[in-house]
Amino acid sequence: MKQTVSESLYATAKTYFPGGVNSPVRAFKSVNGTPLFIRKGDGAHIWDEDDNKFIDFCCSWGPLILGHNHPEVYKKVVEALGNGSSFGAPTRLENELAELIIARNPFIDKIRFTSSGTEAVMSAIRMARGYTGRNKIVKFEGCYHGHSDSLLVKAGSGLVTFGNSSSAGVPEAFVNETLVLPLNNPEALHACFAEFGKDIACVIIEPIPANNGLLLQEEGFLTLLREVCTQHGALLFFDEVISGFRVAFSGAAEWYGITPDIVSYGKIIGGGLPVGAYGARNEIMAQISPDGPVYQAGTLSGNPVAMAAGIAQLTEISRPGFYEDQERRTKLFVDKINEHAQANNYPFELVMIASIFWISFDNSKRIRNAEEINSDMTGFKQLHRALLERGVYLGPSGYEVGFVSSAHTEAVLDEAAAVFTDALDAIFKA
Ligand SMILES: *Cc1c(COP(=O)(O)O)cnc(C)c1O
Repeated sequence: MKQTVSESLYATAKTYFPGGVNSPVRAFKSVNGTPLFIRKGDGAHIWDEDDNKFIDFCCSWGPLILGHNHPEVYKKVVEALGNGSSFGAPTRLENELAELIIARNPFIDKIRFTSSGTEAVMSAIRMARGYTGRNKIVKFEGCYHGHSDSLLVKAGSGLVTFGNSSSAGVPEAFVNETLVLPLNNPEALHACFAEFGKDIACVIIEPIPANNGLLLQEEGFLTLLREVCTQHGALLFFDEVISGFRVAFSGAAEWYGITPDIVSYGKIIGGGLPVGAYGARNEIMAQISPDGPVYQAGTLSGNPVAMAAGIAQLTEISRPGFYEDQERRTKLFVDKINEHAQANNYPFELVMIASIFWISFDNSKRIRNAEEINSDMTGFKQLHRALLERGVYLGPSGYEVGFVSSAHTEAVLDEAAAVFTDALDAIFKA
């Protein structure tokens, strides 16, 4: 695979940006290579600057559930842009996107648009603290909630722990307000609430954890979270930045039929442009400025061009049968590859839910917890390279999931499955 143009762009980028990138996972550090500079995308495919063509399963890390450059999204965006790009005043488009979401979503009465998932989660945490008058929050090891200070905290040793910061520059004082628990572990949850219950503002979880492997939770654990939060007056916060509009229109809350108190959205909601959102029932959202005392704002929040992209995308995915078809095609693809791996006794498995899949080099058990992930990423590195060389692009980390879009037709997925099985043979029979 020729990569000379990407290599040269990367060399220049390194003189401008830390690590040559504007978001760290793009740097290909964990797969030891040079990042590909992407020139364009169309449907299920992307082309890099060296004119290599790939079937894309990164899909911008989730937002592009309709694939690249979807004609309806394109049309709506161009139309909005023709009227100007930003006003810092309300537009009709904000109402339209909110209406699309709230009309079908039984979990929230009101919503606030932000410009990223990080911003949405960070603001909603402040809202939870404002509403409850409590400071502590609970998060789970293996869930990612963006890069705000309170949430860059990882587990320390022991079952119920005050975490350690997972980034330099996060003050101890923030870390001390964040409790970190193992996923899918009722015992740790009970112990935590027994000790800190009256101080806990909210429990935040990715109900379908998909940022550190795909750690599907036992449904009973999520139900238990709901019960324990209610019992202790803590708010249950589903961070649905990935799962929202992905597994079902109203996300994992709809998928599992569990009612959270707060939700956050991002990724798909913006149709490929920068949008995040948080929502809750009226009494909780009444905390937010200018109605209430919790301050949160944004110069480009509810940006009309981004709203237009979101409206177009959410309109498309609202069509009857959209999610069933997404899951059906993803399952055909995943089954084909898993059958090949099984028939050959490869220690490999694709784990899936809806149109998300994750590559695991451990097929011995269902992994539900960050600690259970096989941390040897040698297999993933080899597979990532073998797939690139054969025309399939995955996000450059074995801890990240892959996304199937509606542009990944059965024919495209058949081709991709053949590439996967060939790449697996190359690795395991080498
Ligand atoms: C991507 C993600 C975020 C952060 O969103 P950004 O738009 O990258 O700031 C937060 N929470 C979850 C669950 C995510 O997947």
